[in-house]
Amino acid sequence: MSAAWSLVLHGGAGPLREGDEAGAEAHMAATLRAGGDALASGRPALDVVQTAVAALEESGFHIAGRGASPNAEGRWELDAAIMNGQTREAGSVAALRGFRSPVAAARKVLDHSPHVLLVGKGATRFLKPYRLARVRNPREYYRPAVTRPVAPGELAHGTVGAVALDTRGRLAAATSTGGLLGKTPGRVGDSPIIGAGTWADERVAVSCTGQGEYFMRCAVAADISARVRYARAGLGEAAGHALEDVRLLGGDGGLIAVDVLGNVTMPFTSQTMKRGVASSAGRFEVATRRRA
Ligand code: ASP
Repeated sequence: MSAAWSLVLHGGAGPLREGDEAGAEAHMAATLRAGGDALASGRPALDVVQTAVAALEESGFHIAGRGASPNAEGRWELDAAIMNGQTREAGSVAALRGFRSPVAAARKVLDHSPHVLLVGKGATRFLKPYRLARVRNPREYYRPAVTRPVAPGELAHGTVGAVALDTRGRLAAATSTGGLLGKTPGRVGDSPIIGAGTWADERVAVSCTGQGEYFMRCAVAADISARVRYARAGLGEAAGHALEDVRLLGGDGGLIAVDVLGNVTMPFTSQTMKRGVASSAGRFEVATRRRA
């Protein structure tokens, strides 16, 4: 049993936007503090990443949960995933409509379904007995954090995520997203695809953000684990190479990752990534602008 713990959060990678990020930073700091306290008191990584992502969803500061942008038809279709590194159990939902916390829905799939990924009406029916909080009036509830691209042709996007190592050496990852602004109805990004945008095993936990199509084509999250496992790469090196593959295809973004020793990395190739880290070693940082 190790007493070390680490928690890393992200609030999405992308272009720098005008605006005051002080509210987002203060909220992320409070979320980190609460998650760090939970890990220090022995809570499982799986519960802590879910709670942290749910707080980021609910905040409206990021393009996920309440801050998500609508698709091309003005409807909100959200994606989320959660994975337990110890058991490799995973749950995901995609293009889900009408649930306040997509990550809570993903956790129900992990806990109660033999499947990994549920979508559409089947997902809604499966979730019904669990009485999760619903969105009755989307136009009133959602407060899109972004309503138009910053530059012409820019794929405005955003996501939230959390990865954690708990004091019993267990790793977990969770990701939740509104995907791309004005996306085609039915479009699913990398976040709920296990191995692309979200991954946890006995070595590493990873949550990605960026142009999801590229992250799927590079299987980024699982690739980091493979590089650590087979190429014996360090966590930072593995993450850097995986993001370089995305860049070579023409995409950008970032990720957060933690390994079983508590090492963390938060690289990004986009202009910025909202991010924060807390650990039992006393590290505590939050940044929403360029480099820390
Ligand atoms: N990766 C997300 C998606 O493509 C978006 C983001 O992270 O900004 O759905």
